[in-house]
Amino acid sequence: MKKKIAILGSTGSIGTQALEVIEEHSDLYEAYVLTANSQADLLIQQARRFQPAQVVIADESRYDYVSEALADLPIQVYAGADALCQVVQNDEVDIVLTALVGFAGLRPTVAAIKNRKQIALANKETLVVAGELVTQLAMENHAAILPVDSEHSAIFQSLMGEQSEIEKIILTASGGPFRKFSMEQLQTVTPGQALKHPNWDMGAKITIDSASMMNKGFEVIEAKWLFGVEADRIQVVVHPQSVVHSAVQFRDGAVKAQLGVPDMRVPIQLAFSYPIRLASTFDRLDWYHMADLTFEAPDLGKFRCLGLAFEALRQGGTMPCVVNAANEVVNLAFRQERCSFLQMSDIIESTMQRTTFVAQPTLDDYFAIDAEARRVADELIA
Ligand code: NDP
Ligand code: MG
Repeated sequence: MKKKIAILGSTGSIGTQALEVIEEHSDLYEAYVLTANSQADLLIQQARRFQPAQVVIADESRYDYVSEALADLPIQVYAGADALCQVVQNDEVDIVLTALVGFAGLRPTVAAIKNRKQIALANKETLVVAGELVTQLAMENHAAILPVDSEHSAIFQSLMGEQSEIEKIILTASGGPFRKFSMEQLQTVTPGQALKHPNWDMGAKITIDSASMMNKGFEVIEAKWLFGVEADRIQVVVHPQSVVHSAVQFRDGAVKAQLGVPDMRVPIQLAFSYPIRLASTFDRLDWYHMADLTFEAPDLGKFRCLGLAFEALRQGGTMPCVVNAANEVVNLAFRQERCSFLQMSDIIESTMQRTTFVAQPTLDDYFAIDAEARRVADELIA
């Protein structure tokens, strides 16, 4: 029996690479659900090729266009955010890959978990916003959450076969395109410069988050919830070559790491195939011609977003949700040249101070606080 996979965000960077994995292993997997936000033409093209049972276009204004284009095929077409929550509940679906971006991932991920689906989690924002609630729900529903983020997949792989306590997680970071920039240089960097990541080709939002190192801050929060390790035992280490994808140190001082060529298809494939590893044709490390592997401390003075994420995690409650919402607002504003690179962390910090704090939030609280934080951040930009 082939495993049926629902890809939320099939038109994105992770989504398209997941389709490559499915195509490579079409004897084992099939794309059962494909979804996009607004890229209707690419969604239609993917649907014609992979023949899923269902597709969703989140942007409702594009519904007629998609449904007419697929009218000759036995594919059910839906539109809107609610439909994302519906399709993941289908009894046929085995695995839900959350490859959509931002807070929009929270509701469908929760719906999938409540229906006991295996989650291949790329959408880290879900754990940043509501890590406690989501991991608790996953435990209650016996829904496995398998990490797709390369660092977390590396940690997960380092833990395979281990029963001992984790002493420390070593979370590696490329440092992004501005690692060596001075504060003065950072004042004038453009979205164009920030969108050129040295090692990874990813969607626009996460590429900007990598340049500001908010992405690494989010990954600290993601690691805490996935592996149950407190922030003071998660060490961020800048490793510009992105070969060591992260590591775990155990109580005897031994360190296990996972290494490889930077290629997201490796963690995507493992999140589908775990506990076994499937063959792949992806590039291998070339040990005789590898660049020197170097490691250094992150500069928290320059990359303030990283410190703000640690602070949000320390405060807990809705604070990480506020940071995520404010970050989504400033990330887009920076791309649209409505705020500068360094203003991003200032606005996030002010939004943290001005938004209501809820210590023990429910799912509804997260929606209310997300909306409030977006309003606050928008006002600060204006
Ligand atoms: P992309 O921007 O490339 O793709 C995002 C996908 O989600 C697209 O299919 C997009 O549709 C869809 N989408 C966007 N907004 C919404 C919405 N509001 N409702 C429904 N669908 C939506 O992002 P990435 O693939 O880079 O990233 C996806 C997730 O994976 C993020 O959470 C990111 O942090 C995480 N991640 C990504 C990595 C990477 O290498 N790219 C590495 C590690 C984690 P459309 O195309 O129509 O806009
Ligand atoms: Mg990552």
